[in-house]
Amino acid sequence: MLRNDQLAEWDRETFFHPSTHLAQFARGEVQSRIISGASGCHIEDRNGNKHLDAFAGLYCVNVGYGRPEIAEAISKQAHELAYYHAYVGHGTEASITLAKMVLDRAPDHMSKVYFGLSGSDANETNIKLIWYYNNILGRPEKKKIISRWRGYHGSGLMTGSLTGLELFHKKFDLPLAQVVHTEAPYYYRRDDLDQTEEQFVAHCVTKLEELIAREGADTIAAFIGEPVLGTGGIVPPPAGYWPAIQAVLDKHDILLVADEVVTGFGRLGTMMGSDHYGIKPDLITIAKGLTSAYAPLSGSIVSDKMWKVLEQGTDENGPIGHGWTYSAHPIGAAAGVANLKLLDDLDLITNNRETGGYLNSAMHDALGDHPNVGDIRGEGMLCAVEFVKDRSDRVYFDAADKVGPQIAGALADLGVIGRAMPQGDILGFAPPFCLNRAEADEVVTKTVQAVSRILD
Ligand code: PLP
Repeated sequence: MLRNDQLAEWDRETFFHPSTHLAQFARGEVQSRIISGASGCHIEDRNGNKHLDAFAGLYCVNVGYGRPEIAEAISKQAHELAYYHAYVGHGTEASITLAKMVLDRAPDHMSKVYFGLSGSDANETNIKLIWYYNNILGRPEKKKIISRWRGYHGSGLMTGSLTGLELFHKKFDLPLAQVVHTEAPYYYRRDDLDQTEEQFVAHCVTKLEELIAREGADTIAAFIGEPVLGTGGIVPPPAGYWPAIQAVLDKHDILLVADEVVTGFGRLGTMMGSDHYGIKPDLITIAKGLTSAYAPLSGSIVSDKMWKVLEQGTDENGPIGHGWTYSAHPIGAAAGVANLKLLDDLDLITNNRETGGYLNSAMHDALGDHPNVGDIRGEGMLCAVEFVKDRSDRVYFDAADKVGPQIAGALADLGVIGRAMPQGDILGFAPPFCLNRAEADEVVTKTVQAVSRILD
């Protein structure tokens, strides 16, 4: 086995890590951490440190680590048929079974699923399908996409543009011109502190209507949003938000993409976020929860309405000019089948709902009155704590003070992984669905200790 110091040296010399301060890492100012094993809700590094992973990797290891059922399905698939492509009507038992399982779990009006590898590429697929759809319908001008500030939809060229976070645009010449952003449904950060939740929803609707009027409805193809804002701060929408937005989109014949990369397959305590909020999307993006990250796989679920036009398009133009070598990769598909089966067999979505509710209420009880805690919010197995300098006037900390990252760091030192969300001092939690109450208590107790280490 290679020595840790050897690996750490190679790591700094050769490995380009995503979302990392490259210069600090190269200088050795950012820790190189080599993860070697995991089980249930815990991960272990090569120095023998164990952590309760209350963010499930990147909110993706939904069924928990170390599930033999999924590992065996992957191994069996690799032995029988590691790869064959899905072009021109080819498939495998795993990919066809998974398509059926996905459609059985999606809203009734959805028709087909295209498989990709990541949430980012699934959203790229979605935008291409939307453009194709409007070209087939003879509406070549109807192409712009509305996204929300603080939305996260990936970090490719188009998807990085859809993402509404500064870090993902700055110095990359993004967003591209076809993308326009509207108000985030972030009630806590409303400009007018006197607004009720209902008034704030009306404000979001007005902002959307104004944007559509400014750009022209005949230039706008689609609106994309996560049922619950994820990376932008873990923010459930204010009551009535989704029906109000959907009504505006329907009025202007604008398609709706529900990006369910985080919410899909149980994270909110229901199978899909679209069902949770009564959203009727034209496309649904899925990824993380599809395989619980045991293998890379994503999907774009297409509605009946869009599918009919895509079929018409191929009758008029020949085969659809879209596909990846690894679309519907058999190993990913086998992992997906085993993962979705495990979710059902262990009734993990019910545990998620119950323990997620417990985690959220325990967090409220423990930190709800803290003078530097402005907001505690969550849904299902998602929870966020937002820190402020002054709670009564909602004065934020200076970003340069890095209060959120400091608290996340102190929490990690205490043995629990939470995530300092990238914009604002927000500590996010998205544990595996198998979290138990004792583990939820540990998350809360250690969060309180971490907060007091940094703020008291
Ligand atoms: N969409 C949402 C809502 C996400 O949270 C993410 C990733 O966190 C993505 C898309 C991009 O997925 P990936 O990182 O697999 O490309």
